[in-house]
Amino acid sequence: MMRTHTCGELRVQDVDVQVTLCGWADRVRDHGGVLFIDLRDTHGVTQVVVHPEDTPSVFAIGETVRAEWVLSVAGKVAHRPDGTVNPDLHTGEIEVVAAALEPLSKADALPLPLDDSPVDERLRLTHRSLDLRRERLQQNLQLRARIVSSIRQAMESQDFTEIETPTLIRSTPEGARDFIVPSRLSPGSCYALPQSPQIYKQLLMVGGFDRYYQIARCWRDEDARADRQLEFTQLDLEASFCHEEDVYQWVEKAVGAAFEVGGRGADFTPPLPRLTWHDAIRLYGTDKPDLRAGAPIEDLSSLFLETEFQAFAAAAHKGAVRGWRACGGGSRSRKELDLLTVRAKELGAQGLVWMVVEADRKLRSPIAKFLSEAELAGVRNQLHGDPGDLLLLVADEARVCSEVLGALRVEIAAPRGHAVEDGMALLWVTEFPMFEPGENGPTPLHHPFTAPHPDDLEKMQTAPFEVRSRAYDLVVNGVELGSGSIRIHDRDLQERVFAAIGMPADEIASRFGFLLHAFRFGVPPHGGFACGIDRLAMVLADEPSIRELIAFPKTQSGADPLSGAPAPVTVQQLDDVGLLLSPEVRAQLAGKTAT
Ligand code: ASP
Repeated sequence: MMRTHTCGELRVQDVDVQVTLCGWADRVRDHGGVLFIDLRDTHGVTQVVVHPEDTPSVFAIGETVRAEWVLSVAGKVAHRPDGTVNPDLHTGEIEVVAAALEPLSKADALPLPLDDSPVDERLRLTHRSLDLRRERLQQNLQLRARIVSSIRQAMESQDFTEIETPTLIRSTPEGARDFIVPSRLSPGSCYALPQSPQIYKQLLMVGGFDRYYQIARCWRDEDARADRQLEFTQLDLEASFCHEEDVYQWVEKAVGAAFEVGGRGADFTPPLPRLTWHDAIRLYGTDKPDLRAGAPIEDLSSLFLETEFQAFAAAAHKGAVRGWRACGGGSRSRKELDLLTVRAKELGAQGLVWMVVEADRKLRSPIAKFLSEAELAGVRNQLHGDPGDLLLLVADEARVCSEVLGALRVEIAAPRGHAVEDGMALLWVTEFPMFEPGENGPTPLHHPFTAPHPDDLEKMQTAPFEVRSRAYDLVVNGVELGSGSIRIHDRDLQERVFAAIGMPADEIASRFGFLLHAFRFGVPPHGGFACGIDRLAMVLADEPSIRELIAFPKTQSGADPLSGAPAPVTVQQLDDVGLLLSPEVRAQLAGKTAT
């Protein structure tokens, strides 16, 4: 071994021990002729001291050391002198008095600072190997590794078998664009990189593997969106002979284990709450509710069926009047309240009514004079308004009311995001609609293998948008962490779903034929789930971006500034895979590409 200890290991009980440490020179300081080198590795930092009188030749080498040189230091552990103990460091009570110092590798001047000063992200990604030396990234990636390990243990303790599925495949049905990989052996044909192992995991169920899981890499060629990566990792699972509740329990065990190693075990109390999609939209205006952001939205329509205030009467009959209480929000100025109205209109409402609960419990509002005492009291009681609260009302189509109030709810509750102390709020959102409107009629909201709710089968052709599915999402702090569904295992039902989405037979055959073929030979009822590992680690590390949890992420626009990918390839490479190019394009590429 090149070293006897790591840089995070030595304590007072090691005083007088002869040690050899290896690491990077974090900082080099000359204090009145005595040299201090903070030696850093992934385990911590140890102070090395070099005395010019005792070891002049070591001192001479030490004086040449610059930041980020890699060193080997041999010497004896000593107490730090009184007054120089550093309580912030685990090794802060000791130092190593260097008897020998060998530079193992020198470093050029650094292209970016490694302290906490803000650095442009492109620069960080261009020099990622340096950037990775930061304590923050060292800790994040270690945490991520512990999370993945805990998930594997949880899955295996529940009898799931880890099985790899291929990455050069035919298109998968997740609905995003595929990355394609041209084939040299079949010129003109392409593989796709999997958007998920969806079809393969279902085939594994047909193949008799009761419970499958995988920490799977997936690729989706999507337009740049906030905090998405073109490639990402998910815990992917599928099981036979199960219902929704079984899946919830398995996933809760795995995600709970991750919360435990992430130090957030207390925030994870299974069984997690469940909310149907319809209730989530009604109560929070979104299918990803953040339960930390205060009270749910209330429907106040029944209070206004007979009101003289025409705007509310009309909405109460044709749409809805809904309200939400911003606890303690009544101290806003008139100007701030007007801005909330502007925001509500931006969000799609025709207007916003605000009411402030005064100390005497009376409601102050521009429309108070149009409402009866009973109506005002009704609003206050139903929204549980206390003195100092702000009550917000929207009269519109029911869905608009909830969406606008839901968005305001999140913006008001945590204008700059929630603090760590607010804890975590997890829930299952269940019974998603089966279809959403697409360009050519209904399209599956999840994917076409998702089973419809058994009570809604007769609506499949007549009212497809009212059909509920057996799909579910796991949501944490207003972010979708994962989704899954119970699948269709019955061929007739599968055909009815394809008919509902109007998919032509030849497209069905070409895209999913191999799955449907397998389904002819005995399919167990099955269901599954996939959960984003990058996002889970991000939440547990309390980081604002998944890029802080990925060793080599791409920028938001999908570029890798480190390697320069994506990059042009040679004409020869294109030729090899049979990509037909016009002479003009060829000429252009010949001028541009590296060989
Ligand atoms: N394949 C789905 C996804 O990646 C998850 C699932 O249905 O299991 O979102």
